Amino acid sequence: MIAENISAVQLKIKEACIRAGRNPEDCTLIAVSKTKPLPDLKEAYDAGKRDFGENKVQELQDKIPAMPADVKWHLIGHLQRNKVKYIVDKVYLIHSIDSYRLAEQVEKEAVKKNVDVNILIEVNVANEESKFGLTVDNTIAEIEAIAKLPHVHIKGLMTIAPYTDDPETNRPYFKQLKALSDKIKEMNIPNVEMKELSMGMTGDYEVAAEEGATLVRVGTGIFGQRNYNI
Ligand SMILES: *Cc1c(COP(=O)(O)O)cnc(C)c1O
Repeated sequence: MIAENISAVQLKIKEACIRAGRNPEDCTLIAVSKTKPLPDLKEAYDAGKRDFGENKVQELQDKIPAMPADVKWHLIGHLQRNKVKYIVDKVYLIHSIDSYRLAEQVEKEAVKKNVDVNILIEVNVANEESKFGLTVDNTIAEIEAIAKLPHVHIKGLMTIAPYTDDPETNRPYFKQLKALSDKIKEMNIPNVEMKELSMGMTGDYEVAAEEGATLVRVGTGIFGQRNYNI
């Protein structure tokens, strides 16, 4: 079932890109495997998936050694400063940098481990109180500060849009993130690349792909409902 789901989602992404005049190869599907057992991840891996998203450091630490080495791990959940040291040299991309202090901690640990770390800046475009992320108004100033950290490389922006039954209601937020990304790109800030836009989940990834997402994060649509009570 997981392999079929991946194919189906992949096809919808492709169609969305084509509708929007985009190259489907510019939009990568991240399989969000949080709470799911290893056999599910292996099935996705065998179906060809290499990009996996997790939101908890502990779970990443358990899953990384159990999966093949060519998996690209995306940390998509809120990151606490005291946990940075456990994952800084193990993940492909951290999507959830939402403050200078957190980026500074990543820099510190990156120096210790002699690695470079690729990050995205999380923006709370919809201004939801329950969500992490910088406000649109603060993002540029924070990026200019974070860009000065030599081992931390900003690759783009990420947002978690509001939960909704109608994905069209999130289209303006995706458009806004894309516009912000374009604006920052034009500033040509050293050590800042605006090549990735991480947006779209099971409920709204097609709209996100139409609006320029380069990374969509799909969990339920691939692995089925999550059970948090196990
Ligand atoms: C869980 C999660 C997802 C995937 O959510 P689904 O609705 O199951 O696709 C995407 N992004 C983040 C940040 C998440 O925590």
